[in-house]
Amino acid sequence: MKIEAIVFDLDNTLVDFMRMKREAVRAAAEAMVGAGLRMSPDEVYDEIFKIYEREGIEDQRVFNKLLEKLLGKVDWHILAAGIVAYRKAKEANLRPYPYVKTLLVNLLKRGYKLAVVSDAPRLQAWTRLVESSLDPFFEVVVAYEDTFERKPSEAPFRKVLELLKIDNPRNSLMVGDWAERDVVGAKSIGMITVFARYGDTFGTVNSGADYEINEPLELLDVLDKLENSKV
Ligand SMILES: [Mg+2]
Repeated sequence: MKIEAIVFDLDNTLVDFMRMKREAVRAAAEAMVGAGLRMSPDEVYDEIFKIYEREGIEDQRVFNKLLEKLLGKVDWHILAAGIVAYRKAKEANLRPYPYVKTLLVNLLKRGYKLAVVSDAPRLQAWTRLVESSLDPFFEVVVAYEDTFERKPSEAPFRKVLELLKIDNPRNSLMVGDWAERDVVGAKSIGMITVFARYGDTFGTVNSGADYEINEPLELLDVLDKLENSKV
């Protein structure tokens, strides 16, 4: 079997997004308490994650909403303290998983086309790629605004293969940490699927994927198997 392209999900597959989020929210909570918010940092941390759960993890006004809820209004000093601490901690903590760069260098040397398909808005997806220094590796990046549909919709998967000029989905691989989105969506158009178990935050038991990897470099073993199979 000839694999031509490998498509990656971004958050919790290439970069350890949840780790960054936890560290950044922790720093923001402490800074807001330091600027005069009269609660414990742990309580502030929990309140912020409640807002993310309700409004989505990409919410850009989460601290405004927090202060409106807790104080009935925005305190600009506390807001600024939270935003600045969040940004600094985010920059310090947004990293690829170990050996992701080694993996990507190997894949390029072996001649695969590489792409990203993410539900994140374009600017957030690109910012995270640049912050983690992964941006030079990818030929195509499909983000939310490219189709205005989210995985497991077929649209983002079809879009990424179209831009990569891959006619047969069986010649491509989708790697992702979210079974209901990454695996289900890619499978529905016939891509070969790889579940990134190391990024799983849901305790997924049965991913439904063709292959599973416990660390990024195991993808090379999957490719060896596929390239050596006659089917
Ligand atoms: Mg993900």
